[in-house]
Amino acid sequence: MIYEDYYIFTPGPVKMSEEILKIGAQQTPYFRNSAFSDVTYACENGMLEMVNAPQGSKAIFLAASGTAGMESAVMNLLSKDDNALVVNGGGFGARFVDICATHAIPHTDFKVSNTNLADIETLAPSENYSALVVNAHETSIGHLYDLDAMGAYAKKNDLLYIVDAISMLVTDPLDMQQSNIDVVIASSQKGLALPPGLTMVILAPSAIAKIKDIDSLYFNYKNYLTNGERGQSPYTPAVTIMLQLEARLAQIKQRGGVAQSIANAKEIAQYFRANIKSLPVKEYTPFMPNAMTTLTPTDGRSAMDVVNALEENYKVMVCPNGGPEREIVFRISHMGEMTKAYTDVLIDAMHDYYGVARN
Ligand SMILES: *Cc1c(COP(=O)(O)O)cnc(C)c1O
Repeated sequence: MIYEDYYIFTPGPVKMSEEILKIGAQQTPYFRNSAFSDVTYACENGMLEMVNAPQGSKAIFLAASGTAGMESAVMNLLSKDDNALVVNGGGFGARFVDICATHAIPHTDFKVSNTNLADIETLAPSENYSALVVNAHETSIGHLYDLDAMGAYAKKNDLLYIVDAISMLVTDPLDMQQSNIDVVIASSQKGLALPPGLTMVILAPSAIAKIKDIDSLYFNYKNYLTNGERGQSPYTPAVTIMLQLEARLAQIKQRGGVAQSIANAKEIAQYFRANIKSLPVKEYTPFMPNAMTTLTPTDGRSAMDVVNALEENYKVMVCPNGGPEREIVFRISHMGEMTKAYTDVLIDAMHDYYGVARN
């Protein structure tokens, strides 16, 4: 099925701008030359600037989906000698737990609910940890954690602080220096509003110092860092998506910087939430990001029925929960090329579906 004429409110892939789409329609260029090295440098500098990375930070670009960013970070930065505290508040936290288990990294599956971990100091198990691993926005349920509080905890306990920021960059604030973050994992298809297939790992000098010699060819960070010095990568990069990233970073700048993009996302999210108040749905968590709204039907309907009806009757794509909350919650993304007028299509469709007049 081609979704061209659908209204897109899924949390990845998200609605892309015309400017970015046009780049995707062009011939992919050859890349082992200085012209492409300049693209890589522009992408690296733009990403480092966006997250306010400390002096001496580096970005690694992998032609892979975001999970490869997560897994490669664990593989390169943690070992049997570590003990990782892994925040697990849903499907993506569980994925980090699986990754640690797969690579035999000692870890605690720190199951959390109904908290943004502003009080991590009191909630965290009192073991001796060496790393704190978290998905800043647990996208499976639309829950945003307190990066500053976790960073203060990580600093106090001397933990390597690894943050998967995939589904909150560009829509919600992240500041590596302010929050003492050592590693940020990003991916192309969420707030960056590019096609899937490019993941980025931003390493502060504190993380670069911890890179190990590992048993992996493709995911070997040392090799990426060496090649990165000349603006290249060891294997074929996601050339077209890198070109789109370069343009997207310039676009964000030209539109007033990342702070402006965050303000826009916040405005759209608040607009949506304010305009569905009379419908039989409630917000699933008090800790929602600007990136997404997660709703629970309050009239006994299955969330899947709402998702299916919006798609079939209104050509509006929202997203169910991929796990056990499938019947209980559905998710609406505010990431990407969003306007109030575009969001009105969804608001109107929901009112029509519920037979409630919009006021
Ligand atoms: C989307 C997402 C990922 C990446 O998933 P992929 O399907 O591998 O791209 C990782 N973490 C979070 C929090 C996400 O939302």
